[in-house]
Amino acid sequence: MDTFTPLNKNAFLAALGALDCALSGAQALAEGRHLAYALVRPPGHHAERRLFGGFCYLNSAAAAAEYLSAFGRVAMLDIDYHHGNGQQDIFYRRSDVLTVSLHGHPRFAYPYFTGFDDERGEGEGEGFNLNLPLPESLDGRGYRQALERALKRIEAFNPQFLVVALGLDSAKGDPTGTWSLRAKDFEANGQMIGMLGLPTLVVQEGGYRNRTLGLNARSFLVGLAAASTRRSDQRREVRDRMRSVVFRREPDPGDPERIRRLVSQTGFFSPAEVDVAEELVRERLQRGEASGYHFILAEHFGQLAGYACFGPIACTTASYDLFWIAVHPDFQGRGLGRRLLTQAERLIRESGGQRIYVETSQRVQYDSTRAFYDAAGYRLESVLPDFYAPGDGKAVYCKILPR
Ligand SMILES: [Zn+2]
Repeated sequence: MDTFTPLNKNAFLAALGALDCALSGAQALAEGRHLAYALVRPPGHHAERRLFGGFCYLNSAAAAAEYLSAFGRVAMLDIDYHHGNGQQDIFYRRSDVLTVSLHGHPRFAYPYFTGFDDERGEGEGEGFNLNLPLPESLDGRGYRQALERALKRIEAFNPQFLVVALGLDSAKGDPTGTWSLRAKDFEANGQMIGMLGLPTLVVQEGGYRNRTLGLNARSFLVGLAAASTRRSDQRREVRDRMRSVVFRREPDPGDPERIRRLVSQTGFFSPAEVDVAEELVRERLQRGEASGYHFILAEHFGQLAGYACFGPIACTTASYDLFWIAVHPDFQGRGLGRRLLTQAERLIRESGGQRIYVETSQRVQYDSTRAFYDAAGYRLESVLPDFYAPGDGKAVYCKILPR
């Protein structure tokens, strides 16, 4: 697609070597490594399905992403100064590989014909390509703002692997770029990406100012490695913490206060709801099982990590209400809610229950709650419009337990 990507007798061999190197990196990730770096020439991110150019022949990073996509969802982040048109084209109709690119706006930067923000993917891939075209003059700070946006999108996608197309032509003085990033900025970018905590393959793309290329690459990798190690240590700590969570069924006199604190700390419930949560456990303490409120409490060295409350529905033979599941912020996102739910279901089944009902609001705030029950096999049974307030209906979910 241009005149500066010649096919001489070595081009194919060199491009194939780069691709092999990137694939070896991908294989290392698939085998459980956390970080891999493919230092290659020629670059690859301008190579599409049917076109090549911009010094690129074969898209090494896209080949690595394709390989990894057999093991889980993959995000590709292109931080070269130029648009990653190659992987955009290759994955344009797919939703299992997210492609994100930050680059100089095509109105002044190569490849000129692609990289606009309205290129969002097609068909099943719609919404799975994000272009962030940036102004002609940009420093490290401005760049980090855009990078922040890119990383938010990647986090929302929740991939299993990250492939970074690392271009260093965003550096100050690069003959093909117009920005002014310095070594410190590359280190900060590496840190931000490392904070995702994802298994990450870095594939070298552009970067043509030889005097600073090595220093900038090193700075990026130092930032990436430090943040990514810190982040995986944190993850290990949380995993260890989850191992020492114990469950009990009998509430004790300290629980009303602890439940009140936990429910408020989630920041999710209104003051009236917090009162109700406390009231239920008080009633249980006073009247025992006759109260109709049953509990499962998850505890971590005396601290309440989460709990569930459920009970039989009066005048039914085998239907139960699930009133609450709440998880302390320190323990969220680690499957504790799901474990509490599974235990509640087991206890309900053992007491002869066959149907479990959950009532929730239709407000946007409850999106994640509804997604949680959806994923656990609950089906939306009915909606009572305007039940809680005008525009705020009640959604009733039901799960029929296997007998
Ligand atoms: Zn470039």
